[in-house]
Amino acid sequence: MKLFTVGPVQMDPAVLEAGARPLPYFRTAEFSEQMLQMETQFLRLLNAPPESRGVFMTASGTGAMEAAVTSILNPDRDKALVIDGGSFGHRFAELCELYRIPYVALQLPFDADLTEERLQPYREAGFTALLMQQAETSLGKRYDMTMAGRFCRHEGLYLIVDAVSSFLCDPLDMTGCGADVILTASQKALALSPGLSLLALSPRIIAERLTDQPSRCFYLSLSRALDNMKRGQTPFTPALSVLEQLAYRLQQLDQLGLQAELNQRASLAAYFRQQIRQLPGLRVPGYTLSNSLTPLLTGALDAHDLFVDLKDQTGLVVTPNGGTLAHNLLRVGHMGHLVRTDYDALIAALKTRLA
Ligand SMILES: *Cc1c(COP(=O)(O)O)cnc(C)c1O
Repeated sequence: MKLFTVGPVQMDPAVLEAGARPLPYFRTAEFSEQMLQMETQFLRLLNAPPESRGVFMTASGTGAMEAAVTSILNPDRDKALVIDGGSFGHRFAELCELYRIPYVALQLPFDADLTEERLQPYREAGFTALLMQQAETSLGKRYDMTMAGRFCRHEGLYLIVDAVSSFLCDPLDMTGCGADVILTASQKALALSPGLSLLALSPRIIAERLTDQPSRCFYLSLSRALDNMKRGQTPFTPALSVLEQLAYRLQQLDQLGLQAELNQRASLAAYFRQQIRQLPGLRVPGYTLSNSLTPLLTGALDAHDLFVDLKDQTGLVVTPNGGTLAHNLLRVGHMGHLVRTDYDALIAALKTRLA
């Protein structure tokens, strides 16, 4: 089995090993120290502004999205602009709906990039926050965070960024784009087991929204998590084996450097995309792509059948799509423990199926 999926992804055996060791007890000074070190490493990878804080929550990425919406936004004070460009953007809209946060969803057509012109109608319209993905994973579409950051600065909006799939794949500078919240999860490009989400919080959002304001969620309260993290702790029992994997992975990133990691994702994506261009019958959409994955329009072939066929006949697992694109779009991930020869195998398998 080889996973070209977008979470969980192919894992490094050394990471698996790090999570398989006997677990430590966590209400100790040693564990707290390790947590605080991981916080520092995580914030450094994002170039978070000074006085930012990081928290780790035991939940998949959606839990972090829900934590952000319920801990930061307030039905009486806020009006959110949600970039609804695919299933993950739509999830932010669903969360606002559920928690009765007034919002407007900017629906982005399949082929369209998020541009300044698309945001223009939403200027000076009473919004207080922009909720968006850096990369909309359902399509592999990447948004321009510099432009979005400029829009938020100009309009005085909080910027809440779901970087679940783009973290470590596409460059992201928290200081540069002025994000107030950046969230990600363990099972994407971090390539750890699922179960842990990571959030970086700006000093501004901490002071203005996470200090006095009560959260409407008990388990997912960011202020509670933040309060505990001051001493390197979590309010509830964390996913300890995933935290052990994270400690290993952050150490590795410290040694190899963020740029090397980003380059590796970019180079795998470029390699695959170059090969795929030689294969008539498959088409890569024209919008701006994230390096986390390549979307493939399968033309005459049924995308879901192709996914099942590849999985069952070759053990190569690509990512199917749900919803309206289920039969037309496949996604090939570039996250995790993959090398060029893995893509050679995938290309060869695709070639025989297109013949
Ligand atoms: C994977 C992903 C999530 C979270 O999904 P979970 O299944 O809850 O981990 C959220 N946003 C984006 C952009 C993602 O790619």
